[in-house]
Amino acid sequence: MKPQTADSILNPDALISKSSGSSIFGTIFSIIRFSTHDGPGIRTAVFLKGCPLRCWWCHNPENWQDLPSEVYQPERCIGCGVCIDNCPAGALSATPQGILAAPDLCRHCGRCVDVCPAEARERTSWKVAVPDLIEAVGKDTLFFDQSGGGVTFSGGEPLCQPEFLIAALKQCGELEIHRAVDTSGCADGRIVLNVARHTDLFLYDVKILDPVKHRTHTGMDNTGILSNLRMLSESGAAIIIRIPLVPGVNDDSESLARTGEFIAGLPRKHRVDLLPFHRGARGKYAKLGLNYAGEHLPPAPAERVAEAARQLTNFGLAVRTGG
Ligand code: SF4
Ligand code: SF4
Repeated sequence: MKPQTADSILNPDALISKSSGSSIFGTIFSIIRFSTHDGPGIRTAVFLKGCPLRCWWCHNPENWQDLPSEVYQPERCIGCGVCIDNCPAGALSATPQGILAAPDLCRHCGRCVDVCPAEARERTSWKVAVPDLIEAVGKDTLFFDQSGGGVTFSGGEPLCQPEFLIAALKQCGELEIHRAVDTSGCADGRIVLNVARHTDLFLYDVKILDPVKHRTHTGMDNTGILSNLRMLSESGAAIIIRIPLVPGVNDDSESLARTGEFIAGLPRKHRVDLLPFHRGARGKYAKLGLNYAGEHLPPAPAERVAEAARQLTNFGLAVRTGG
C-alpha cells in the first residue's frame, strides 16, 4: 500500500453509532477510496485492526492491537474541559496526569477527538457496524464496475476479526461488489476456508520460507501460513501472492530460490507481486514510541528488485513489481 492523500480517506465518523443492537461491529483504522494499489481496478480499501505478526518492516505498527484507540498528548492539553463536557459516556475526568478516560466507560466514539481545540487527542481507529460500512463503501460501485475494482479488506490482519470480516464480505457479495482479502494467512485454517467462501481474490503474503528466519523477522512460525496457502490454492481460490522484498532478510539467492520453488510447487499457478521495502513508516514508530526494527534495513535498490524478479521468473512464475 502506498501513502494516500487525505481527501481520498473516507472519514469513518459518519459510520459511528448509526447501527446498534444485533449489528456486528469491527474495529478499523482507515478506509481509503480510489486505491489502485490494493488489488485490480479502483478499490475501496478497508483496514482492520489487529495482527499476530510483528514484521520488522511493518508499515502500520499502530494497528498491532485490535482495540479501538484514541491517543492523548498531555503536553498539548490546555485543560479547557471541552472533551469532558462532550463525552457521551461520561468517561473523562481531570486527573493529575491530565484528562483521562475510564477504560470501562469509554466507547471509543472519538467525540473527544473531534471537539478538542488543541489537537491533544488523536483517533487511531474506529468501531463500525457492518451495515454502515457497506453503505459507505457501496457508494463507489460505479467506479468499481467501470474499472474492474471493488473492495479490499486489509490490515493489520483482517482474519483477526473473522466474524466482522465474513459478515462484511457476505454483504458485499449480495451487492455484487468484487471482494479481495489482503492477508498474511496467519490464522486458523478453518477461518481461512470460511473466508474463502465469500472472497473473490486473495492477496496473500509470502515473506520468508525458512522457518527460523521467519520467526526471527515476524515473531511467528510460518508452518500454518504456508499450509493455509497450499490449502487455498488447492481449493481453487483466486490468489495473487505478494512478496515484500526486504534487503538482508529475504532478497538473497537462496531465500528467493526457496520461495520460487515453493510457489511454483503449489497446486495451481498464481501471479507474484514483488513489493520492494522502503522506510516510509519510520516516522510512525517514533510517534508511537516504538522501536523500529527496520531502521537498519536498506531500501531495496532497483537493480536488486529486477534481479529478484528474474530469479523468480526462472521458476515459471508470472512476476510483477509493485502492488
Ligand atoms: S472516545 Fe468517546 S466515550 Fe471515549 S472518552 Fe472520548 S468521547 Fe468519551
Ligand atoms: S478538549 Fe483537548 S485541550 Fe481541552 S481538556 Fe480536553 S484534551 Fe485538553
